[in-house]
Amino acid sequence: MERNTIQRQEIIEVLKNSYNHPTIKELCDLLKDKNIGQATIYRTVKTLVSDDIIRRIECLDGIHYDYRKDHYHFYCLKCNKITDVFLDKNIIDNMLSDSNLKDVRHINLVFEGICDSCKGKSSYGIK
Ligand SMILES: [Zn+2]
Ligand SMILES: [Zn+2]
Repeated sequence: MERNTIQRQEIIEVLKNSYNHPTIKELCDLLKDKNIGQATIYRTVKTLVSDDIIRRIECLDGIHYDYRKDHYHFYCLKCNKITDVFLDKNIIDNMLSDSNLKDVRHINLVFEGICDSCKGKSSYGIK
């Protein structure tokens, strides 16, 4: 296998095995034993997104990546934690058929709010 292909595969493997939506920096950390240059990681991740192999999640604290595509995300405005949100596929299908959008390729849906554990320890009166 070509070196590029091997590196690409290694990056995919790391993303497949991480369930905490790493940023590109965290991804570089996770790959530091693999001897892949940072520029290669950045370039490969970009390609993986445009090839629709991984997903890009835009949050207030930066861009995160996810290998799985069967869910959406909730972003906690206090602790920056990202939680997976599973929605009934019908909801999305209805939403799309109600709209006039003909060629939707990706849906970047991020709910923003306060997570349960932050809500529990809140001292700001957020309910
Ligand atoms: Zn939180
Ligand atoms: Zn996710």
